[in-house]
Amino acid sequence: MTVVCRGVCIRHKAQWKRGKPRYTEDSCRCTICNIWLDVKTGTKNYRCNCCNGPIKRTPKIKVLARIRN
Ligand SMILES: [Zn+2]
Ligand SMILES: [Zn+2]
Repeated sequence: MTVVCRGVCIRHKAQWKRGKPRYTEDSCRCTICNIWLDVKTGTKNYRCNCCNGPIKRTPKIKVLARIRN
């Protein structure tokens, strides 16, 4: 399995409105492509559709901690 950027990720680049936090349900970071991806179109099974590498998403622990506080 190759983990190389094929240039497809640019088509699935995440777009935010101003002031919106980056790590959200809809966006994730691919460190291999060095790009922010739209989760729905740019990733599959927590992997980048472009390079097939693992993607970073918001740690659920942090979200839970925020709700408790
Ligand atoms: Zn890529
Ligand atoms: Zn990628």
